Amino acid sequence: MELRTKSVWMDGTLVDWDKAHVHVLTHALHYGTGAFEGIRFYDTPHGTAIFRLRDHIARLERSFAWILPLPYTIDEICEASREVVRINGLKEGYLRPLAFVGMERMGMDLRGMPVHVALAVWPWGIYLGEEALRNGVKCKTSIFERPRTRAYPGQAKLSGKYVNSVMGKLDAVGKGYGEAIMLDSAGNVSEGPGENIFIVKDDVITSPGAEADALEGITRDSVLTIARDLGYRVKDQVVTREMLFSADEAFFTGTAAEVTPIASVDDRKIGSGVRGPVTERLQATFFNTVHGKDERYMHWLDIV
Ligand code: PMP
Repeated sequence: MELRTKSVWMDGTLVDWDKAHVHVLTHALHYGTGAFEGIRFYDTPHGTAIFRLRDHIARLERSFAWILPLPYTIDEICEASREVVRINGLKEGYLRPLAFVGMERMGMDLRGMPVHVALAVWPWGIYLGEEALRNGVKCKTSIFERPRTRAYPGQAKLSGKYVNSVMGKLDAVGKGYGEAIMLDSAGNVSEGPGENIFIVKDDVITSPGAEADALEGITRDSVLTIARDLGYRVKDQVVTREMLFSADEAFFTGTAAEVTPIASVDDRKIGSGVRGPVTERLQATFFNTVHGKDERYMHWLDIV
């Protein structure tokens, strides 16, 4: 993955990519006191467009508000996001907004400490690989639970929380699987390390949300909307492991993963073990949507 581009937006100005540094005594490096977003931008017939930019930046503000207020408004960060996409000249890619607590002192009481905001972009191809997008990814249920909402606010993308995701991912890829599936503390299906999960059974589409300690992702919301518009019955409810194993189809959604079919879980095939017809239809509509080819969802695109 090539992370190098031309410029990074940092605290109100564009700086050269190689100069976008922080000090080792930055609070966030020690305690995970940051919040971040992942946003994709796509080439469309109307120019490069950022997908659901405002929804992502609003979530960044809500996430970070658990520790400190953001020093910029949502509008200011949206404008800076468009600027950093434009200035780096990428037609498609990934935009990473990051808010983090800077350097002043150590310890848990971070009241009054400086907050920094950075926006970087890079080209990011298919997150789980071309093969996974077409034929599905092999998954392993994780040895790590998703932290329950009483331990961590489930809807906040706080940096420290992602150590749980990293350990889930490492456990899965270290054993030869492509992705992990995290269970909640009751043993029900929660989500992937950085993706939401969906199952399809008898043409009914179900995705676990906050009740299963999953982040209710923006791609999840988009796919639930698309599925409803295509006439499917959709349910936002708990999915047990048994429901996952006996599903006709299953897939992940996420900004990075987009819509990726799940081929198997713990070496058991899901359905026929390849991308199912409902997944394929939702995937195709999703890709048309983000590429500005579906008039119904143009309001989700922010042309830079
Ligand atoms: N769950 C987790 C834990 C995530 O990190 C992400 C990625 N933000 C998602 C789900 C998917 O969310 P979204 O569709 O908003 O990218």
